[in-house]
Order: sequence, then C-alpha cells, then structure tokens
Amino acid sequence: MMTTAKGYAAQTAESPLAPWQFERREVGAHDVQIEILYCGVCHTDIHLTRNEWFEGIFPMVPGHEIVGRISMLGAHARKFSIGDLGGVGVMVDSCRKCPDCKNGQEQFCSVAPVQTYNNLGHDGQPVYGGYSNTIVVHEDFVHRISEKLDLAGVAPLLCAGITTYSPLKRWNVGKGHKLAVVGLGGLGHMGVKFGKALGAEVTVLSTSPGKKEAAMQLGADHFIISREEAQMKAAFKTFDFVLDTVSGNSDVNPYLAVLKSNGVYVNVGMPAKPWEVSSFSLATGNKVIAGSGAGGLPETQQMLDFCAEHDIVSDIELIDIKDIHKAYDRMQKGDVRYRFVIDMKTL
Ligand code: NAP
Ligand code: ZN
Repeated sequence: MMTTAKGYAAQTAESPLAPWQFERREVGAHDVQIEILYCGVCHTDIHLTRNEWFEGIFPMVPGHEIVGRISMLGAHARKFSIGDLGGVGVMVDSCRKCPDCKNGQEQFCSVAPVQTYNNLGHDGQPVYGGYSNTIVVHEDFVHRISEKLDLAGVAPLLCAGITTYSPLKRWNVGKGHKLAVVGLGGLGHMGVKFGKALGAEVTVLSTSPGKKEAAMQLGADHFIISREEAQMKAAFKTFDFVLDTVSGNSDVNPYLAVLKSNGVYVNVGMPAKPWEVSSFSLATGNKVIAGSGAGGLPETQQMLDFCAEHDIVSDIELIDIKDIHKAYDRMQKGDVRYRFVIDMKTL
C-alpha cells in the first residue's frame, strides 16, 4: 500500500515552496519507512529548486539531510528494528554492480544512480526528498545513527558532514598541516570541525567579518577576511590544503595564491558559473585542484561513527517549515550559523 505523505514542494522553479501531499511508494521487501524528525537545509536545495544548475523535475520536494525513526519494515528488511534511528543522505539507490558501487562510491554509480530528490527511482517514478513527514528507502541506503548525539544536529552530517569529511580523509589532512576553509556556511563549519578533529591547524577564509568570533568558538585557529587584500597577502603560500565550500560565483585565484607549492585545492562548493583559473596560478607551485562529491555508503557510516566517538554534530538553527523562505533568503546572503534544520513537528 502506498502512503500519503505531507511535505513542502516547489511546483515550479519560480513558485515559493508550499505544502503539498503526495504518495510514497509501497514499502518493498528490503525497504524501510522512516518517520522524519529533522531535515537539514543544504544550499543545493536552493540551487535545484531554483533551476540554478539545470532544469529540475517538478513538483520538487527538496531535502537530503534526513533523520528520523524507523516506522515500518519490509518483509526481508533486517538492518533495523521499529523505533531505531535512521539517516538518509544524498542518494537512495544505485545499481550496486558497477565499479563505483563496488568501490563503495555509490554516489557516482554510472548505471542507475538515484539521488534523494529531483530524480527518478528504479520504478521510473520521481523521488521526493526530506522536507516531508515520511520516506521509504531501501535499507542499504539508510545509515545507523547513535542515540547519544543531539538528533537535530546529526541531520546535516548526512550531506554537509560527509561532503567535508570525505576529502579531508582522502587527502590525509591531519597533524602538521595548515588547512584553509573557504566559506563558513553549512559545509564550511563542518570542515572546520573535522579539520580540527583530525589534528590540522585550521584557518577560516570568510567574506563575513561578523563570523569571526563564532569561527573561533567552532575551534578555528585563525580567521581571515578574504575581501581584505592585506590579510590575503599576508597569507600568501601558507596553506597545505584549501577546502573551498563557496556556493556563490567568485574568483578562486586569490584562494589558489594562499596554497604552498605542491598544495592541494579541494573544491566541494558548486557555484553555477564555471571558474576562470589561470594556468600560471597552477603551474607556479605545482598546484593540484581536486573535486569531491558527497561520500559513499561505507564512508558515510564511518563518518557518523567518527562523529559519535568525537561528539561532533552540526551547529544549527532549528526552524519551523513555514519559515523555509526566510532561511533560503538568509543563506543567499551568507547569513547562516551554520545550518538551518527543519523541525518536522511543525509540518
Ligand atoms: P551555505 O551554508 O549557504 O554556505 C556557503 C558559504 O559560502 C556562505 O555562508 C559564505 O560564507 C560563502 N559564500 C557564498 N557566496 C559567496 C561568494 N559569492 N563569494 C565568496 N563566498 C561566498 O552553503 P552550503 O550548504 O555549505 O553549500 C556550499 C556549496 O557546496 C553549495 O554550492 C552546495 O551546492 C555545494 N555542495 C556540494 C556538495 C558536494 O558533494 N560537492 C555537497 C553539498 C553541497 P562566508 O560568509 O564565510 O563568506
Ligand atoms: Zn547537500
């Protein structure tokens, strides 16, 4: 039996998000149903609902930072019991057979990837995200969540968390390294927390002078206002790694200039406009530009377990779902500390 779900959807790229009822698929043999308690608000939700990258599938229910309790089990679902906590990130299915899936990087599945929303499921029907009271997902794509962390603060780990944890681990960022995190929003503040937890010296490069104190409270060692030329000049060639989490269009060349020779520039931000990078700024100093996209199933569970062990959650502002537009407006202005999370009780 299908379930009627409540949620907030954008009917078009121009219309504001508004209450919408829709059907969730029947709970299949290996599926679980989750009663959603909290959903984080990622900047990707804005890019996609507003067609900033490409034409989306509408109506669109955004949200890929989902936590809640398991409320129904498929006949052969064994991973969870009713009442357990579960979390869902940026994807809800994949082929499980291609090299990427076999490599634990299901987010890059080249055969049948299914993103959590703005996508079609394997049944050909559109899938809807976490700004909703319930969701049905194959149990393999639901992560175990520790009961000991603040649950609302866990939600953003499912995207902002894994997206920053994964590249820092891949590049072995740790003790003895100087890491610059560019942009102090949802991803950036998790980059600061993970950078510190892994032992690096962390500097925030921000366009918002008002975020300095909070950055230091998050554990950052230094704070640079990236629009102040003198401060950027003083940082010339001082970082081993730069983690760029910027959502808006900007000039990356000044951020490349603060990398040491042989340094690595890891980009996770997805501004709509392509970058212009001078070949000189890469050649001079053998610089590496690397990308990173979310994280696969095994690493996402590893990250959640790491957070439980190190007592790491996101710093959040809990919002009523009817205030989602205010949250989007504030994020567009960089005014976010540091992740909006929707309290699904307010739906
Ligand atoms: P967010 O919370 O809105 O934070 C973005 C921050 O970037 C802002 O707070 C601001 O920080 C800075 N910023 C924004 N516009 C800027 C501009 N024009 N120039 C310089 N700095 C600017 O966004 P988020 O949720 O962290 O997401 C960040 C980006 O990552 C988005 O593009 C999102 O789509 C992308 N993303 C990628 C992945 C992936 O898999 N790679 C996963 C999730 C999200 P300051 O105020 O400190 O300057
Ligand atoms: Zn996201």
